[in-house]
Amino acid sequence: MVSFIGAGPGDPELLTIKGKKIIDSADVIIYAGSLVNPQVLADAKEGAVIYNSALMNLDEVIDVMKDAEDKGLKVARVHTGDPAIYGAHREQMDRLDELGIDYEVIPGVSSFLATAAVLKKEYTLPGVSQTVILTRMEGRTPMPPKEKLVDLAKHNATMIIFLSVGMLDEMSAILRQEYRPETPVAVVYKATWEDQKIVRGDLTNIAERVKEAGITKTALTVVGDFLGNDYDLSKLYDKTFTTEFRKGVTE
Ligand code: SAH
Repeated sequence: MVSFIGAGPGDPELLTIKGKKIIDSADVIIYAGSLVNPQVLADAKEGAVIYNSALMNLDEVIDVMKDAEDKGLKVARVHTGDPAIYGAHREQMDRLDELGIDYEVIPGVSSFLATAAVLKKEYTLPGVSQTVILTRMEGRTPMPPKEKLVDLAKHNATMIIFLSVGMLDEMSAILRQEYRPETPVAVVYKATWEDQKIVRGDLTNIAERVKEAGITKTALTVVGDFLGNDYDLSKLYDKTFTTEFRKGVTE
């Protein structure tokens, strides 16, 4: 059995209890060494064989899983954040399906959620944005033609951009075509790690500030007026509003 585990954003206490139990009892652990905090593996059982997938290709990862499966060993495949977000996860599951190897997926706290937490912000503010776009800039992975950043930006929704902090100049220039130039932006480097850094600005100055802070990778860029202070109060907790659980008062 292979267990894909979302290891969370960095702080080892942000691993789920279920994920931790599996890691601590696994015979074989394959972890994404470029991003997963090694402390997540601190209580791995003695004798567990640990592989760093940053040094392996897909065939090698699958070979390790198959070999372990043949020997009846338990495999923990540890991804950063949640494997469903830029995890190169599907291709592994499909290969295991082909091989008839059973697997399960344990979700994790994605870095985009940890980022909201460390910023102490909410992505979905009434009257500001009720939509969150998770995307990236085109790198070696091409963007589908209907998902160009400039097109996504037309909605002025809350936008979270992965894997792209090294392209902030270009990114902010594109976003300025659709968002107001003074739209607030935050860049969070290594959210929840001990060396976490937060840089705030707007679409005119964020690239410069991030350069000054020396941040070139492992950061998320979040854009939108959810970072500001104007919004409507929610209906859910409006005292005049009746919900399924609570009767509103008439004023
Ligand atoms: N599956 C992961 C994302 C993997 S892609 C998740 O759910 O978070 C790797 C990108 O995620 C990085 O380039 C960076 O943009 C972002 N990232 C991962 N961990 C991060 C963290 N702790 N803080 C900020 N960004 C992070």
